[in-house]
Amino acid sequence: MRALVFDGTLSLCEVPKTKPINGEVLIRVLYSSICNTDIEILQGYMGFNGIPGHEFVGEVISSDSYLYGKIVVGEINCSCGECYLCQTGRSTHCNNRTVLGIDGHPGVFADYVALPEKNLHVIPEGLALTSAVFTEPLAAAIEIFEQIQIKPSQNVFIFGAGKLGMLISQVFRLNGCNYTTFDLNEGKILKALKMGLNAMPLSALGGNQKAEVCVDCTGDSKGINLALSHLFPRGKLVLKTTVANPEKIDLNQIVINEFEIIGSRCGLFEPALSLLSQGLVNPEPLISKIFEFPKIIEAFAMAQKPGVLKVLIKHG
Ligand SMILES: [Zn+2]
Ligand SMILES: [Zn+2]
Repeated sequence: MRALVFDGTLSLCEVPKTKPINGEVLIRVLYSSICNTDIEILQGYMGFNGIPGHEFVGEVISSDSYLYGKIVVGEINCSCGECYLCQTGRSTHCNNRTVLGIDGHPGVFADYVALPEKNLHVIPEGLALTSAVFTEPLAAAIEIFEQIQIKPSQNVFIFGAGKLGMLISQVFRLNGCNYTTFDLNEGKILKALKMGLNAMPLSALGGNQKAEVCVDCTGDSKGINLALSHLFPRGKLVLKTTVANPEKIDLNQIVINEFEIIGSRCGLFEPALSLLSQGLVNPEPLISKIFEFPKIIEAFAMAQKPGVLKVLIKHG
């Protein structure tokens, strides 16, 4: 099968077809998309080598599966189901887990991918494949509301109007929050405004303007310190950024200001699919370009350019 392989550099190769192991099914990838995590992997994040990619929609082709022929999206954490963390409802933190295209599990930038059957969700009828491919990052956006309660009276600053920031902003809007989304890139702010989001260029944010909740989804190592500097005492900081080279932060200010820091990663797929199929979150304006699979290296080059949002890959 064709696959994009990372071993210090990216190359498009012919590799042996993926074989599902115990509990896994084989999926033919229809669409995939490039996430900031994939770009960080190129910088050495997680020390990953192999086939990257974790955002996809595909068709189950294992004929012995009850999902045979179904169009599915897939959760990225492959957990054991038996360890203490799995048994206490924390399977996304399983000690024995592999993570699709990120840690010990070949990813989706290939013709085929294998995932445990239990990780898969059939997409609702009528949902466009190009929207379904956003399920994983939207689930990550929704995860914030599984973790903390935000009152409508509290103001929220979202740092980063990128791929994830725009989904997070839409989820905050849905919840009736008093949010503002900031970004350095004017093009992204214009796009956000066009989508009806409450967005402003970062340059318009005064040094002493603060919020009760700050979300860092800049995808930049400096984002955490930026967000901390705009947080009220006893405020909540939600961290979404993961980078290959994190910045140091001064923990004293967390003690002095009694900040609450919440790390936030993967979320539930069903609510994400529900919002997408009802049209309550619209990811389509975030698509910058769709590349055919043989042009995937070009797609990666484009995805790293400033101002570019989601780059999709059409397999097949
Ligand atoms: Zn992702
Ligand atoms: Zn486990």
